[in-house]
Amino acid sequence: MEFIDLKQQYCNYQNEIDRAIKDVLMSGHYIMGGAINDLEEALARQVGTSHCISTSSGTDSLLIALQLLNIQPGDEVICPPYTWVSPIECIVRLKAKPVFVDIDPNTCVLDANQLEDAITEKTKAIIAISLYGQMPDFRKINAIASKYNLPVLEDGAQSFGAAQDGIASGAISTLGVTSFFPTKVLGCYGDGGAIFTNNHDLAEKAKALRVHGAPERYNHQYVGMNGRMDTLQAAILLAKLPFLKDEIEKRREVAYFYDQNLKDEFITPNVAQGNTHVYSLYVLQSEHRLKILQELKQADIPHGIYYPICIHEQPAYRFLGYKRGDFPVAERVSDQIFSIPMHPWLTEEQTDRVVTSLKSSILQIA
Ligand SMILES: *Cc1c(COP(=O)(O)O)cnc(C)c1O
Repeated sequence: MEFIDLKQQYCNYQNEIDRAIKDVLMSGHYIMGGAINDLEEALARQVGTSHCISTSSGTDSLLIALQLLNIQPGDEVICPPYTWVSPIECIVRLKAKPVFVDIDPNTCVLDANQLEDAITEKTKAIIAISLYGQMPDFRKINAIASKYNLPVLEDGAQSFGAAQDGIASGAISTLGVTSFFPTKVLGCYGDGGAIFTNNHDLAEKAKALRVHGAPERYNHQYVGMNGRMDTLQAAILLAKLPFLKDEIEKRREVAYFYDQNLKDEFITPNVAQGNTHVYSLYVLQSEHRLKILQELKQADIPHGIYYPICIHEQPAYRFLGYKRGDFPVAERVSDQIFSIPMHPWLTEEQTDRVVTSLKSSILQIA
């Protein structure tokens, strides 16, 4: 059993993917060009924004997005302390200051009720991060942001394909970014990412920033970077895109089975009102995590912890001056959370085995 079965996915679409790769190889054009334009059009259509800018990764998308928002040294950017590290890394690389707001215990994403208290005169942006496949509460986040005239950047690396009140992840704020890292809901075979916006000026500047800040060749208007997606990766994503809807349906079926069978013994994922969930990961919480994971290991069931340590407790970010106890919900969740296999091709026999093993681990603890 695989935690996420990428090999199975490739085998299922091998003809389409091989053909797409071969077309790029035969074209002789490996940077920008046809597949990049086609992918950007297809993604913008799917997400419902007027612009999509493909990039070299989710992290680079975040860096470009923060530059688009003109984040300067000393500016404060609000975000949660419990996440994959990329957003915080990008804020710090621009010499701005991450200001953390604790997470909501039910969904593990930014607690919008605590957001307003963190806003100061130095606040320049809010990064709202999706985790595990669902979005934070943008109704509240966007309302507070507009009260203070602040832009909102959505890190939708884990929620491509999800929606809130019918609005797709990527399209719900000033700027949305996502990642096509292989294990994400829509993944390529290397690194890739995208930025979404309805703002024409931001889109044009983003296109320039990803090619060394040059809107046209040898005209460097901004200090940019090499932030392009490989044409090969764009072709692979285009080949995989038509299957995404069905894959998400299958993920939901697996999640439903886990929910029904595990909700008495564990804290199962809570889908917030108005949200659709794409289950990029399936997470459970228990005070007995250590023992449970030992049991899963014994039974040879793959598992993971996303994330075992909050960012404010990471060595590289201690200089920010936060300490244990500052974000009690994030700290508790990081102590109790764990993930079990989640992908569209799990068989009933496999999910049964996961459930049986988890239930027996609880019996041993009791
Ligand atoms: C994966 C991920 C990223 C980074 O994406 P890369 O493409 O790996 O750079 C950023 N934020 C979150 C929340 C992620 O899960």
